[in-house]
Amino acid sequence: MTIGILGGGQLGYMLALAGYPLGLHFRFLDPSPEAPVGRIAQRVTADYTDHAALERFANGLELVTYEFENVPVEAAKFLAQRVPVYPPPAALEAAQDRLAEKSLFRKLAINTTEFLPVAKASEFEAVIKQIGLPAVLKTSRMGYDGKGQWILRTAGDVARAKSELPKVPLILERFVPFTRELSVLAVRSRSGETAFYPLVENHHRGGILRLSLAPAPALDARVQRAAEDVARRILESLKYVGVLAVEFFEHEGNLLANEMAPRVHNSGHWTIEGAVTSQFENHLRAVLGLPLGSTGLAGHCAMINLIGDLPEPSEVLAVPDAHVHFYGKAPRTGRKLGHVTLRAASPERLALRLSELPAFFHRPYFCFDSVLAHSASLRA
Ligand code: AMP
Repeated sequence: MTIGILGGGQLGYMLALAGYPLGLHFRFLDPSPEAPVGRIAQRVTADYTDHAALERFANGLELVTYEFENVPVEAAKFLAQRVPVYPPPAALEAAQDRLAEKSLFRKLAINTTEFLPVAKASEFEAVIKQIGLPAVLKTSRMGYDGKGQWILRTAGDVARAKSELPKVPLILERFVPFTRELSVLAVRSRSGETAFYPLVENHHRGGILRLSLAPAPALDARVQRAAEDVARRILESLKYVGVLAVEFFEHEGNLLANEMAPRVHNSGHWTIEGAVTSQFENHLRAVLGLPLGSTGLAGHCAMINLIGDLPEPSEVLAVPDAHVHFYGKAPRTGRKLGHVTLRAASPERLALRLSELPAFFHRPYFCFDSVLAHSASLRA
């Protein structure tokens, strides 16, 4: 049985690794000849808009899924006429456009920060007046890892942004002075069965995820229920199939949904070692209509992204219950090359493990300050 995956990056790589024990084969479509999955699966190198290549790719597949949410919706719809496509292309459509996404949240009575579209430059100042400062200006489409975003705090920032406004649809959001960022991973299978992982606490620098702590420290059962309720509403309204990630700001004890990703997610990498069933295996179980696996915890985890360069594996693996994942990508500044997961039986032990990481990790962009503060709070 061969599963087709649109996108051939690390998420696809880890999906395939989770699928081999289930007896599955994989075929990837990615425009880049460098896509790391080339090492472990069939790869079609072609543009997502190439219909002949899409036909070749779809031939003989059991179903198609994706690991990248900026796949053109048109390609997903084209494939859906030939072979089942999960999650439904409608989920892709909603997640690709911040305005559509936040409008869906609003329609489902899910709390978000205040937001308004900025369709053209002449509207900008009126919209700023309505939303107020500080605010975050974002391109409505194709933004990821903090790209296409401007934080506006002063009249000077507004004037600068106005002079540089890109001629694309924009969204202005009220800045949320959040306590922390959390995300939930949810999964719904073809039979309608659902499951939820515990909320994770995420630390970003420069708009890129650096560190996830799972489960989120001091996780309140009420907040977990609220996150599951939000995810459930999205799953049901889209008749969703597969893993869905929803990112939140925690503010004054409440959750505000920021965005969703219709795929396995970086903040779920810890589930490989830290949950009974990983997000990757559960995504495959969901799209195949197999019973979902337990989302129960197998430990307390810290997942650290390796961005731009890699540590010496022997130094990391010297820390007990540390796990290294290298994606086989060529090093480049700002590129996600791998991740490390540390697992421990208790938060206190996890704090100890984090303090044992080699000097490579003692750099500001690994959020080591957050890690150490976290460790200190657990020891207190
Ligand atoms: P996004 O691409 O929407 O996930 O934004 C990337 C990061 O920018 C988030 O993880 C937050 O750290 C920050 N951010 C985005 N939107 C807001 C907002 N409205 N208020 C405060 N911080 C934000």
